[in-house]
Amino acid sequence: MSLTGKTAVELAGLIAAGEVSAVEVAQAHLDRIAAVDQRVHAFLHVDTDGALAAAAAVDARRAAGEELGPLAGVPVAVKDVLATKGVPTTCASKILEGWRPPYDATVVQRLRDAGLVILGKTNMDEFAMGSSTEYSAYGPTYNPWDLTRIPGGSGGGSAASLVAYEAPLAIGTDTGGSIRQPGAVTGTVGAKPTYGGTSRYGLVAFSSSLDTPGPCARTVLDAALLHQVIAGHDPRDSTSIPAPVPPVVQAARQGATGDLAGLRIGLVREFAGEGAEPGVLASVREAVEALVKLGAEVVEVSCPHFTYALPAYYLIAPSECSSNLARFDGVRYGLRVGDDGSRALEEVMSLTREAGFGPEVKRRIIIGTYALSSGYYDAYYGQAQKVRTLITRDFTAAFEQVDVLVAPTTPFVAFPIGSRTSDPYQMYLADLYTIPSNLYGGPAISVPCGLSEGLPVGLQVMAPTLADDRMYRVAAALESAVPALTPPDL
Ligand code: GLN
Repeated sequence: MSLTGKTAVELAGLIAAGEVSAVEVAQAHLDRIAAVDQRVHAFLHVDTDGALAAAAAVDARRAAGEELGPLAGVPVAVKDVLATKGVPTTCASKILEGWRPPYDATVVQRLRDAGLVILGKTNMDEFAMGSSTEYSAYGPTYNPWDLTRIPGGSGGGSAASLVAYEAPLAIGTDTGGSIRQPGAVTGTVGAKPTYGGTSRYGLVAFSSSLDTPGPCARTVLDAALLHQVIAGHDPRDSTSIPAPVPPVVQAARQGATGDLAGLRIGLVREFAGEGAEPGVLASVREAVEALVKLGAEVVEVSCPHFTYALPAYYLIAPSECSSNLARFDGVRYGLRVGDDGSRALEEVMSLTREAGFGPEVKRRIIIGTYALSSGYYDAYYGQAQKVRTLITRDFTAAFEQVDVLVAPTTPFVAFPIGSRTSDPYQMYLADLYTIPSNLYGGPAISVPCGLSEGLPVGLQVMAPTLADDRMYRVAAALESAVPALTPPDL
């Protein structure tokens, strides 16, 4: 098998054994990107020179006899919402076109410190708002399973880069499902760590109380290894949790043995059938049966407030976004429009924001500004926060009865490009099952569980906060029990 077909674990093993250099591995992936990315459009920026230099540095350190980490020399693609020093960071928005951050996000810094080789920046919905990558200002990403369909969003570029064999690992961010939903519809693994388990420093903020960077990979073990690299306390993020990283790698290895004896799995009654395609439900049912065969016990649990998660999220996230995106004013970053000396500052700001933001971002800013405005704050934002508390209580009560909750990751398989952009509500429905764990803050992972109409379906495993290891154990067990999905040749 070619180098690009291998997992991160396999590549790291080959590099460590000296059978292949990190430069050869990087070059193979850069060649693959050159061959297929015109059709997939997973990348907004490919950092050829940076990748080759980072790979050469790993080879030199190895030659000098240095002990390197478990993923040293392995390439990784990074969602374009994370700051990369000197490398363009656009958030797929025109307003940040040309911006080169003067610093690295903590997650990016940790990748570099661990010897991973950053290939480039991946496409996404503008400022991570969307479920299909169609809201990128630079054009959509195409799902390698069927190039007429969406790869999910907002991190569709990261997920597509994996399934197109352009990268063995990728970084995503998950505010309402943007790691897990693209994972599900591309047949890859995507994990949202516990909120605060991975640093938000250098992550361009969308909804600060929800944003969570996390790993994307083709296997559960690869995701766990990447999780281990990027997670852990960061004094530069005030919401970062000062606790050890849960033993996610060990849990993934343990899960792969396929023993789930004694594990209690909860099925959320309120999710049963709600809005999901029959093929998705059938595939998820089979996955649950597979978990039972491995020794798990299934319990039906009630989470009565999950039904309100979607409306609560679509008030909280836009509210926080309207505040966070105020900083894009044409003064500090990127684009500036109309600054010819004849206009007042406010007019330049307004022209810049009018030209720089796309329609979905504007919609969110308008909704959020309204929801936070005097006289409406209590009715909208305040109510949504109360619902958030009730959802957290539902999770807490559920986890007194079961170890994990499982559900479909997304109600439908990858949909055709253009089929949901005219109705925002249809797009928001993609997040039906992923949003509750964001509002709660607990970890959740999507793992491929089968096909429906020839397209991938993901099973979602949700765990209590800081029990990230538990979700990896269950995900790895499922992965060992279902046939691997092989995407069509590009
Ligand atoms: N699809 C959701 C939204 O549009 C989730 C986005 C995300 O997780 N970044 O807000």
